Amino acid sequence: MAKEKYKKALLELLRREGNDVCADCDAPDPDWASHTLGVFICLNCSGIHRNIPHVSKVKSVRLDEWDNVQVELMASSGNSVSKAKYESKIPPFYYKPTFSDCPLLREQWIRAKYERKEFIYIEKQEPYSAGYREGFLWKRGRDNGQFLSRKFVLTEREGALKYYNKNDAKEPKAIMKIEHLNATFQPAKIGNPHGLQITYLKDNSTRNIFVYHEDGKLVPKLSRNYLKEGYMEKTGPKQTEGFKKRWFTMDDRRLMYFKDPLDAFARGEVFIGSKENSYKVLEGLPPSIQGNHWQHGITIVTPDRKFLFACETESDQLEWIAAFQKVISRPMLPQEYAVEAHFKHKP
Ligand SMILES: [Zn+2]
Repeated sequence: MAKEKYKKALLELLRREGNDVCADCDAPDPDWASHTLGVFICLNCSGIHRNIPHVSKVKSVRLDEWDNVQVELMASSGNSVSKAKYESKIPPFYYKPTFSDCPLLREQWIRAKYERKEFIYIEKQEPYSAGYREGFLWKRGRDNGQFLSRKFVLTEREGALKYYNKNDAKEPKAIMKIEHLNATFQPAKIGNPHGLQITYLKDNSTRNIFVYHEDGKLVPKLSRNYLKEGYMEKTGPKQTEGFKKRWFTMDDRRLMYFKDPLDAFARGEVFIGSKENSYKVLEGLPPSIQGNHWQHGITIVTPDRKFLFACETESDQLEWIAAFQKVISRPMLPQEYAVEAHFKHKP
């Protein structure tokens, strides 16, 4: 009798806001829980929690037996309360893995959060402040596409990530400034579950390198998610050249495009400012425009010119518009004016 009562109470709790996705990876409909931490989690994360039994004890909401004390804790805590506590001080550029990331990254995240409590107490954070990390990543050769092991060094003092072609090389092959760098997980693109794309600026143009990691230690510090990626068609500056299909990547205010998703160099990029500075996104194309094979147009208005894009589907179009709106509606930061000047719009 009591058993049924507890189960019913738990299923009720699962419907509360915040409890409808996994507390650790945002997977929908979690049906496991840590009854010591008071969070609802997915099956995959429950496996990670099981490895830290001194911090977390897990049970299935549906299959296990619960007692009154445990159910009370779930009721008084829950995912929203727990996040407010355990995620209160996440550094702004910390990459929070989600359910699509590899288990290694998710385990690092869960341990940092509950075992080391890094995001409650800043002083417990992994010593990024030690400022130096070194590791090996498998890097894809630009010409032959083969992956070779390369030494990467992250130094905070210099604000740079470097890599070396030979282990004993004195000079790095590339120095990437952290402020101009992003890394995102791209398992499908790279064909490895730990595949990572590092994007950085070299001589004012965007360069990609593709790597995969085995230990993941270098990675969370560098990563943030792109706002959106995918194919669109675009015209050139005169808007008479016809539309060409290109791969677009939107990294905050930078919209970059590539002929192929695995290209090392961006063909061009567009800075997306704010509405206060006369940037606008409009649904559709000007009426005189033709030559697009795809029907769902988008016009970006910048102080200098209009950029015309066409999407294959309406849902794509709406997602791109939402991504553009998001940055356009946010006022520009002082340092972004410098970026705007720096990124002279390229054709
Ligand atoms: Zn999860």
